[in-house]
Amino acid sequence: MTKKRPITIARGDGIGPEIMEATLNILDKAGAMIEPEFIDIGEKVYLSGNTTGISDEAWDSLRRTKVFLKSPITTPQGGGYKSLNVTIRKSLGLFANVRPNVSYAPFVQTKHPNMDMVIIRENEEDLYAGIEHQQTPEVVQCLKLISRPGTEKIVRYAFEYARKNNRKKVTCMSKDNIMKITDGLFHKVFDEVSKDYPEIETDHWIIDIGMAKVADTPQDFDVVVTLNLYGDIVSDVAAQVAGSVGLAGSANIGDNIAMFEAIHGSAPDIAGKGIANPSGLLHGAIMMLVHIGQPDVAVRIHNAWLKTLEDEIFTGDVAKGRPSVGTAEFSEAVIARLGQKP
Ligand code: ATP
Ligand code: MG
Repeated sequence: MTKKRPITIARGDGIGPEIMEATLNILDKAGAMIEPEFIDIGEKVYLSGNTTGISDEAWDSLRRTKVFLKSPITTPQGGGYKSLNVTIRKSLGLFANVRPNVSYAPFVQTKHPNMDMVIIRENEEDLYAGIEHQQTPEVVQCLKLISRPGTEKIVRYAFEYARKNNRKKVTCMSKDNIMKITDGLFHKVFDEVSKDYPEIETDHWIIDIGMAKVADTPQDFDVVVTLNLYGDIVSDVAAQVAGSVGLAGSANIGDNIAMFEAIHGSAPDIAGKGIANPSGLLHGAIMMLVHIGQPDVAVRIHNAWLKTLEDEIFTGDVAKGRPSVGTAEFSEAVIARLGQKP
């Protein structure tokens, strides 16, 4: 028998605790070999006077387990609070954000039933490096930072991901017709690195028309690698086009540490009602299981989840007028289908 893998878990704010309970319940019943270590982050920590939103003990746990399953958190209104997501990404060196965007037609409404693309976003550089200045009282400035090592790392990660996951094509998106030096470097490094992966097809789109193509013919894309800001925007566009903003999960990958989450926020408007869809976090958890070497459990859960949709069991956000169930009932339905194939 495999030993249980310690993982750090944050229940988060808003709907966070509800969807985490549902997710952990499914993981447990599916036989995931994990040992949860719970930490407090988010609203409670911020309001206790800690402007980072994360305690020292939480960092200790993260550095020990190196795997983080995180529910969405709420950043309190008002100034002075740092974005916890940005802090975690930077402190732990989570250089790659990996977001699969898949259609689940006909169960989830979408105009693009054949969409199955993965966006790999550079997560540390670009305008997010946080180098902002006030030049004069009326002029402010933000520096766009692109490094060769940072670019090489993300581009290589994208090609390795494609190779490992049997993907056929990697697309680069940049705006190097205008930003010839910064985006130009990204494109150049992409061309160089691609030579090491001759079996993988490549192409390049200028980000604006590329994003328009994602909205129009997403089925033409396979793996997309792009800079931080473009990646932020194109991955939300892609999630929306797939019709599955409430269903998608994401991974934030570092050299020896990784964080997994849902792509949506803490949804305070429906918190405590027991109606939230746990599927986004569950998809994050499925990616986590693959990452920690338990792909068989991941597949088992994903099949049961697909079978649940096939049996037309939906939470309200997906039901769109059809009958719906609550968070707990949905997770029980997934558990009842473990071992079944869609
Ligand atoms: P953030 O700034 O934290 O990303 P946001 O403004 O993007 O938050 P969300 O919290 O993601 O907003 O919520 C957007 C809408 O989607 C809300 O109406 C919310 O109720 C709904 N929503 C988000 N997640 C879920 C979910 N898991 N199940 C059902 N509805 C959800
Ligand atoms: Mg959001």
